[in-house]
Amino acid sequence: AAAPVGPAPAPRAGLLGRLTGRAPAEPQRVLDDAMLESLEELLISADMGVETSLKVAANMAEGRFGRRLGATEIKRLLADEIAAILDPVARPMPLFPKKPQVVLVVGVNGSGKTTTIGKLASQFRAAGKSVVIAAGDTFRAAAVEQLQIWGARADVPVMTAPEGSDPASLAFDALARAEAEGADLLMIDTAGRLQNRKDLMEELAKIVRVLRKRDPEAPHNTLLVLDATTGQNALEQVRIFREVADVTGLVMTKLDGTAKGGVLVALADRFGLPIHAIGVGEQIDDLQPFDPAEFAAALTG
Ligand code: GDP
Repeated sequence: AAAPVGPAPAPRAGLLGRLTGRAPAEPQRVLDDAMLESLEELLISADMGVETSLKVAANMAEGRFGRRLGATEIKRLLADEIAAILDPVARPMPLFPKKPQVVLVVGVNGSGKTTTIGKLASQFRAAGKSVVIAAGDTFRAAAVEQLQIWGARADVPVMTAPEGSDPASLAFDALARAEAEGADLLMIDTAGRLQNRKDLMEELAKIVRVLRKRDPEAPHNTLLVLDATTGQNALEQVRIFREVADVTGLVMTKLDGTAKGGVLVALADRFGLPIHAIGVGEQIDDLQPFDPAEFAAALTG
């Protein structure tokens, strides 16, 4: 964005701002047990989870106990520790030459699956790729309608099936169509009803089984979409969805809101799953590659 004319806006009070206060003269504090504890609490309050927060604070403190540190240095050191956890998982979704690449999109209802599919479809289109979308949540008419709207925005065909029909047969037909059309990508939306885990498991397993009848390697990517505002609950969602699907990567949405998104650090630390992209708004362009250094700096801001 172009820099506005006039004085720079005041920096947002972030994690460390609250601990150390504004620092015109950079007051320094001795890194002792009390300070370590405050740092741990701040990291926990940023949704990083207890285990990961303790680890980040301990790594940062290692070899520095008793030293005097200013706020800027503390921020930088913490951001470095956080980025070290995030760096190995920040990876774009891998796309192999074989056409069509099948991307199965899973996640609880409301997490942002439909929106993310629309945004991704638009990015792929902009990159010159042809895309087909399958509206696999055949139980929610509203979800199908939403996906059609996104398909129109991204200029991508959306295959639908009558309400209540078998999502697996839709997925099969969609793959046949994507193959026939020589499409680069097929993205399949799915239902995210966690209320009945057995149904969810059977439904996703059947979709995968049926896809593999046409392509033994499908789905090539299984994206789990997580809502940043659910905080630590995202950890539980990853655990559940890994039981029902072979999740290959994550997208975290709604990082434009008040959610600090620290749970991404806990997720990276605990599961090591690739983080492909982050959602930062409701518009078609609001999907960004995941940048660990930027994310860590914003988190410790
Ligand atoms: P689905 O049920 O998983 O398909 O979720 P939807 O894609 O329908 O999204 C649920 C709601 O979250 C919608 O109102 C979206 O506009 C909104 N949403 C999705 N992604 C983002 C995001 O990155 N930021 C914000 N602010 N809202 C989002």
